[in-house]
Formats: sequence, C-alpha cells, structure tokens
Amino acid sequence: MSSEPGVNDATPGVASSAPVPARSVPEDAAVRASGAPDDAALLLRDVVKEYSGGVHALSHVSVEIPAGDRVAVVGPSGSGKTTMLTILGTLERPTSGEVLIAGRDTLHASDAELSGLRAHEIGFVFQGFHLQEGMNALDNVATGMLYTGVPLKARREAARVALARVGLGHRLTHKPTQLSGGERQRVAIARALAKQPIIILADEPTGNLDTKSGAEVLELLHELASEGATLVLITHDEHIADTFPRRILMRDGEIVGDEQR
Ligand code: ADP
Ligand code: MG
Repeated sequence: MSSEPGVNDATPGVASSAPVPARSVPEDAAVRASGAPDDAALLLRDVVKEYSGGVHALSHVSVEIPAGDRVAVVGPSGSGKTTMLTILGTLERPTSGEVLIAGRDTLHASDAELSGLRAHEIGFVFQGFHLQEGMNALDNVATGMLYTGVPLKARREAARVALARVGLGHRLTHKPTQLSGGERQRVAIARALAKQPIIILADEPTGNLDTKSGAEVLELLHELASEGATLVLITHDEHIADTFPRRILMRDGEIVGDEQR
C-alpha cells in the first residue's frame, strides 16, 4: 500500500488525505449495479455555487436523476456543466442548497464520509484521462480503488477484470504513454467501473479523442450504464447528446431545458 501514491479517485485538486470511514464493499454491489435501486438517485435542490470573484457558476439549480437514468448535459462553455457535475460527484460543496447522492444527504456529511461515498459509489471519467503516467494500466486501475479499503491483491484482480471488460486485457503492463488516446480513456473507464459504482460521471470523455475512438468510448459507457449504473455525461457534441434518452440543457448557470425521449 505504501508504494502507491495518495490518489483519491485520481482526481487532481481534491484532498486525498481524508480517511475512508470503515465500510466494507457491499457484497451485493453487482446486484445493486444491475438492480437500479431507489437510493441511487442524484438530487440537487436549489443549488447555488458561487466562486470567489463574484462568479455565479450555478444559480438555483434543481434536478432529479433517478437510478439508472442516462443523461447528457449540454450547453455553451462556461454555462456551469462541469460545476454541476463536480457538485453531483461531491468533489465540491455547493454555496447553498441540498445535494442527495444515492439517497444520502451530503450537506451534513464530513469530508471523510464524502470521500468514502466517492470511493465506493461514484466513478469519474474526465476529458484528460487523469491517469498516473508512471504506472501501468493495471496499477492505474488498482490504485483507483485504493480508498475502497479493498486489499491490494483483490484490487488487482478487480482491475484485471475491469481492463478485460473494456477490451484491454492485452495491455495490462502498458503505461499511458504507450497507449493511444482511446486506450487511455478505456483505462480510465476501467478505473471507474472496477469498484462497481452506481453512478458514473463523465466530463467530455470523448473531447480528446478522434471520432472512431470517441464512438467506441461512448458505446462502452452506454453499455456499462445499461447494466444499471446511472450515467451523467457532459458533451459539446450534438451527435453524442442524441444517443441519450434524456438531455439537460444549461445556460448561464441554470438548467434551461430538460428533454426526455
Ligand atoms: P462549463 O463546464 O459549462 O464550461 P464551468 O462549470 O466550468 O462551465 O464554469 C462555470 C462558470 O464558473 C464559468 O464562468 C467559470 O469561469 C467559473 N468557474 C468554474 N470553476 C471556477 C473556479 N474554481 N473559480 C472561479 N470560477 C470558476
Ligand atoms: Mg466544463
């Protein structure tokens, strides 16, 4: 364990020192992932996020995302998409308003509790992959589960399974620089899914990829979500948004459209 750097969800800028409250991985994780339980919903109620300098990134945003929903979030640059995803992922707290994740009220949760929630329930995928350059694919995925408290051997086994799941069973010992962009993003997706999250949050996951790799990554995310996880994905791309049954449109820190098809 000491050989692994202190990453938390491999998310830059997030304190990684908070201990995870004692909680074993639920035995029914796989069942829950496919069972679309009530408590997997994401809920924002009247959420405001202000940044210093008087930036109102989110103005009174309320949204409910039931378990198993697949949602594309679209809107112009600066409209608050990333801020909303960051708050849904508990990486940031709102200035005011309520945030319920997987049925849990995050308002009164400690940083350690939120860290535990992220470690177990939320898989993140970012445009820039956020992989550890010095680590091979297997260790990147295994380290992504560090804060679940699962022992290294079991994490490595889960990592192997997850990498095989994304079609990278033959790339376990490759480092990020030895992988294509599409393969790197698939490693990042394996890292997100290895812990069997009930929520997958993706911020422009295909933004750095060529059309073909982007399409493959998108298909993979849909496939994983169809197994029961809730998927919220930010995109600039109309064609990508069109593949989602629900689309949320943001503008100037507000939700100005919410279409279900
Ligand atoms: P989007 O993802 O839709 O492009 P963001 O959520 O990143 O939009 O940003 C919304 C607004 O909040 C923008 O005006 C942006 O400049 C501002 N913003 C985002 N993060 C910060 C921050 N950490 N500090 C100050 N302002 C921020
Ligand atoms: Mg953004």
